[in-house]
Amino acid sequence: MVILKAKPITKDKYELLSSEIRAFGVVPSLTVVMIGNDPAAEYYVQNLVKFGAKIGVEVNLTRFESTISENELILVINELNQNKNVHGIMLQKPLPKHIDENKIVNAITPFKDVDGFHPYNLGNLFLEESNFIPCTPAAVLEILDYYQIATTGKHIVIIGRSNIVGKPLANLFLRKDKTGNATVTICHSKTDNLVSITSQADILVAAIGIPEFVEPEMIKEGAVVIDVGINEIETETGDKIYVGDVAYEACLAKCSAITPVPGGVGSVTTYNLLKNVFVALRLNYA
Ligand code: NAD
Repeated sequence: MVILKAKPITKDKYELLSSEIRAFGVVPSLTVVMIGNDPAAEYYVQNLVKFGAKIGVEVNLTRFESTISENELILVINELNQNKNVHGIMLQKPLPKHIDENKIVNAITPFKDVDGFHPYNLGNLFLEESNFIPCTPAAVLEILDYYQIATTGKHIVIIGRSNIVGKPLANLFLRKDKTGNATVTICHSKTDNLVSITSQADILVAAIGIPEFVEPEMIKEGAVVIDVGINEIETETGDKIYVGDVAYEACLAKCSAITPVPGGVGSVTTYNLLKNVFVALRLNYA
């Protein structure tokens, strides 16, 4: 059984990125637009700040109350689009219900869209030409690639059809390349007979947002399990901890490899986002 840890992957990547940034001679700058205070979002953003500081990427947080209007938010985005000192813009989710997420994502210039969620970048992802691949799907591919887990010809089942994880990831798995060529099934909240589908997966990806949702009976013996979930839960002693969408301890014996939470997909995602800020800097500099 292999634990697919992020650290061996990100260690070298951070060193390389940091030296490339130094050689370029301009500090990449990211602005994170945060609305309200979601614990999972705080956790992600604090990691961006921490690792950004280590490798020379400036991460600025712009915080707003959850009462901010859609128009006010669009004005904020427009200013960031115009600001030459801001290379990357990240809109931290979840957004309050009165705000149309698509409208705000569309307002971000595609050339500063380090999350890769703008329709221009998602369209180009389908065409295999994107500047920015969404960071979490890219992290899943990088983990499989680093640990030499072949995807060609495999049946990959993804639980979750979100625009930021499930849908782009399914598309990436279909590419005709080293981390693609898979047969992909996407399951979601309306899928019938979920267990009968997930238990056919050679590689099972969980991106659901429900703590420890995936249990051993959902996994084929010897499958690879990739846990995208990050959920804050309270232990019996009142401590707050982060767990994934997979019941990790219970599933260990069933799979051939599994990502830990924390220290798995999320850590590689953080690296990818910071890397994309440098990509954005170079795009906007040219
Ligand atoms: P989302 O809420 O947008 O989507 C969840 C998906 O799960 C939906 O498509 C829904 O249909 C499906 N789902 C919900 N209940 C289900 C059920 N009972 N059976 C089958 N499918 C069900 O969530 P998201 O933004 O895609 O995030 C998913 C998880 O990944 C969350 O835990 C989130 O915190 C985490 N996440 C982690 C990273 C990272 O870097 N590791 C990045 C983004 C999101």
